[in-house]
Amino acid sequence: MTVLSFARRRACGLIGATLLAASLPLAHASAPLPERLGGLLATPSELFTPGAEVTLQPDTRGPALQVVTNGQTTGKVLARRYGVTPGAVRTLSSGAGWRLREVRLPYPGVARAPARPASIQAYTVRPGDTLSGVATRHGLSMVDLLGVNLDRQSLDSLRAGETLNIPTRERGLLVRIKPGQSALSLIAGYGADLVTTARANDVLPTELHVGDELLLPGIRAESFRQQLLAAREADRLAQIAYEKQQKYGEYLAWKRDRERQRLQEKYARQEKYEAYLAWKNSPERQRKQAAYERQARYEAAQAAARQRAAVVQQPASRPGRVQTASTGHVGGLAWPLRSFTLTSRFGERDIAFHREVFHGGIDLAAPFGTPIYAASAGTVSASGYGAFGLNVWTVNGNSTVIYGHMSQTAVVPGQTVQTGQLLGYVGCTGICTGPHLHFEVRLGGQAVDPLALLP
Ligand SMILES: [Zn+2]
Repeated sequence: MTVLSFARRRACGLIGATLLAASLPLAHASAPLPERLGGLLATPSELFTPGAEVTLQPDTRGPALQVVTNGQTTGKVLARRYGVTPGAVRTLSSGAGWRLREVRLPYPGVARAPARPASIQAYTVRPGDTLSGVATRHGLSMVDLLGVNLDRQSLDSLRAGETLNIPTRERGLLVRIKPGQSALSLIAGYGADLVTTARANDVLPTELHVGDELLLPGIRAESFRQQLLAAREADRLAQIAYEKQQKYGEYLAWKRDRERQRLQEKYARQEKYEAYLAWKNSPERQRKQAAYERQARYEAAQAAARQRAAVVQQPASRPGRVQTASTGHVGGLAWPLRSFTLTSRFGERDIAFHREVFHGGIDLAAPFGTPIYAASAGTVSASGYGAFGLNVWTVNGNSTVIYGHMSQTAVVPGQTVQTGQLLGYVGCTGICTGPHLHFEVRLGGQAVDPLALLP
């Protein structure tokens, strides 16, 4: 609504009186004004001063009331009575026991609720609704629906309880008039038809103000739909890129983990190897090796002698049965595995490690977890990690039997075991190149060839 009034107001500010005076024919300008007006206008002739410029402007301040009160009524009380702020009340003049005050009322255009076309209805989104579903149910195309819902950010996210605008008559673009715009500027800007727009909105476009909604019939929101489609595609690509990045991150973490584990294992192996190297160069080891070799030669000679003696003693009626005799304290040994492959003999220098360190036993390869049985009776002196990985040592008199590289032991130190009793299972702990049993026999602390003692 546009309120027109004189911009140049007289001190008294009475619009009605000013207009009345202005409408009087010039011929009567000098005629005396009615007495009532004459009292209000101190010098009425001022109104007709030649050259006085009068311009018409929209009054943005809103209408004003003039109120006469008694002398006690304060501006605050008056403001409260008219529902305005105290600043909207000012005293124009006063006398003994009375005051003439002006109360400026709020601008009506601002006070009323924003207008919107009656044909646009609100639809409350229900759980499971989609934009295209809502459009189809109301017989609308997607462009029709988007055209009256220009505040949507996405074609996909739709929450239950949200409100959608549904056009029930004309289809087009529903825009809100922003500061600096007017209905007419929007109609011109979009190239809409003035008459059909007025009809679609049931109002003259000139009566709409900032904040009101305006339906521009026939204007399609195709570019808006394209914009949302592009946003959806960008979202999808971003999601794919994000997932790729996630997966790659996981892969890198896995790789780092594996590499760390590999290095840890490598360092552990290296530490053990270095310990062996240090031991290899020690005088103690040199002495031991010489002793081993002496013992081995001695044992081999003994075994050969025993074999010769046994052959001589065997009756001719039982040929081919060669009994392996036992030396002093160790009786005949039993095989510690039911089946195996002999991969390394006593003193053999088959692998790098055995070249570095004298091989004091025999290696019997068998699958992981193959049961290992006591080759002789004795007392368990060690069961756990030791010189030969996870190993079990049994002692009987001055003889010691060692079972090395187990995956698991089945006895505890101090336990007495009988020949054939389960001691543990084949594994590859300690210095090992594949699952096997390192089987070593020591007599009086010196390793001897177990093959000489086995059946
Ligand atoms: Zn071995």
